[in-house]
Amino acid sequence: MAVPKRRTSKTVKRQRRTHFKLDVPGMVKCPECGELKKSHRVCKSCGTYKGEEVTEAKD
Ligand SMILES: [Zn+2]
Repeated sequence: MAVPKRRTSKTVKRQRRTHFKLDVPGMVKCPECGELKKSHRVCKSCGTYKGEEVTEAKD
């Protein structure tokens, strides 16, 4: 098994972790209202999906 030659320094470890995601994955900005919403889901605040309004209009 490969073993690291030297211990990862605090600095290097911290530098690597700056790239860790801070926010919840799968969240995007709504193109209509700019609110943070789940991707591939209807926007909760303005009720649109792909630029169309889809507020409880089921047949
Ligand atoms: Zn929206």
